[in-house]
Amino acid sequence: MASVLVIEDNPANMKLAALVLEKAGYAVLQAREAETGLALARAEHPDLILMDIQLPGMDGLTATRILKSDAATAGIKIVALTAFAMKGDEENIRAAGCDGYIAKPIRHKKFLSEIESHLARKNISENPPST
Ligand code: MN
Repeated sequence: MASVLVIEDNPANMKLAALVLEKAGYAVLQAREAETGLALARAEHPDLILMDIQLPGMDGLTATRILKSDAATAGIKIVALTAFAMKGDEENIRAAGCDGYIAKPIRHKKFLSEIESHLARKNISENPPST
């Protein structure tokens, strides 16, 4: 069973994401701010992190940079959860090290299929091509 860490400060979004993921059979870890999320990521090493960008205190892109610059957590897939849809935002999200993003609002089927496709995608750093 794949595990997903959701780092999201909005209670309604957290509740919905957790409900959809748990119903689909994922083990869900929850954090409402980046610091708790970082601690959970290091301790539990989830398969995927859903990272809200706008968080109280440390923002999601900073938290992503910290995780991606640490060899112990760099292999965890991070998908930004964002309401940002403006030009340049995707660039910022990729530059911070996110593997992709899911636009809010969360829509049940699309959300699940996006999670599944990210989990199915091979991590290049963990699976170097055999030459
Ligand atoms: Mn937020």
